[in-house]
Amino acid sequence: QAKSSHKRGLCFFAPQFKEQIIDESSLINDLHQALAQHQLEVYYQPQVMSNTGQVIGLEALLRWHHPKRGMVSPAEFIPVAEKTGLIESIGEWVLDTACFQIAQWNRDHNQNIRIAVNLSSLQVANPDLVATIESTLERARLAPELLELELTESILIEDFEATIKILQQLKDLGVKIAVDDFGTGYSSLSYLKQFPIDRIKIDQSFVRDIDQSSKSAEITQAIIAMAHSLNMQVIAEGVETDHQRGFLMSQTCEELQGFFFSKPLPSAKIEQLIQKSQFITPNNSSQSHD
Ligand code: C2E
Ligand code: MG
Ligand code: MG
Ligand code: MG
Repeated sequence: QAKSSHKRGLCFFAPQFKEQIIDESSLINDLHQALAQHQLEVYYQPQVMSNTGQVIGLEALLRWHHPKRGMVSPAEFIPVAEKTGLIESIGEWVLDTACFQIAQWNRDHNQNIRIAVNLSSLQVANPDLVATIESTLERARLAPELLELELTESILIEDFEATIKILQQLKDLGVKIAVDDFGTGYSSLSYLKQFPIDRIKIDQSFVRDIDQSSKSAEITQAIIAMAHSLNMQVIAEGVETDHQRGFLMSQTCEELQGFFFSKPLPSAKIEQLIQKSQFITPNNSSQSHD
């Protein structure tokens, strides 16, 4: 009996594994071409003040238009880019593109919108990171305080001592630091007092459940209170409903990001949006969600 189930298992799983391996190695090959062939694009998602809906920031989110597969999700190709080291050149391109873009928009529309850029652990481990960021800011003519770097908890604690040094150097430049996906990565909170962190991003898994689970609401409330008592600011991500917005605002979460306000959009659409109005108020406007 054991033998037959073993056989059945082999028959069932082997082709799948093989497919997965072929699939990943072809993704790697394709990803090598992606930058040079202009298949990558930076989308931007608004970050708004919870009390007014004013757009005060944009998060840069990478998109890959694959010639055959169509749009490939970053959740699928970022891990591949990290495994192969390609994330270093791709990440640098995102940083460059996003900084130049926001500086241009701020000049053209007389605004002070911040840009948030996600960093991968490989970028943080690269000894040239601080110099790269300094030179990008200079070339883009972007004020350092308008650049916010998003790092996950796992990146922060990966190489504790080295990371503290790097973050301090980035702080000295004037750049802001945000902890992404807060509450999902690491059980100890002691790192929070050792790193120079400006903002905590409450993970969308808590925000999503605010409506259904009083526990998620309590955790969210506790994160906001903790951040404020540590003199950090808070943004909630994944805000999809007016109820979530209302709750987060009542808990004095100062900034919000999510489909309720806008999905990540290509640059032309974001420019239209910030040109038309600096405020997103989904309840009484015809804000489109495509
Ligand atoms: P993240 O940095 O936590 O970004 C937030 C993700 O949540 C984005 O997914 C965004 O589209 C999605 N999102 C925003 N609002 C809502 C909402 O209301 N509901 C739901 N269900 N989702 C929402 P996306 O764009 O697919 O990116 C996934 C992840 O890929 C990012 O998570 C980030 O970790 C990574 N990523 C994206 N771009 C870059 C990049 O340029 N560099 C690096 N290193 N990682 C990136
Ligand atoms: Mg992020
Ligand atoms: Mg996140
Ligand atoms: Mg994430």
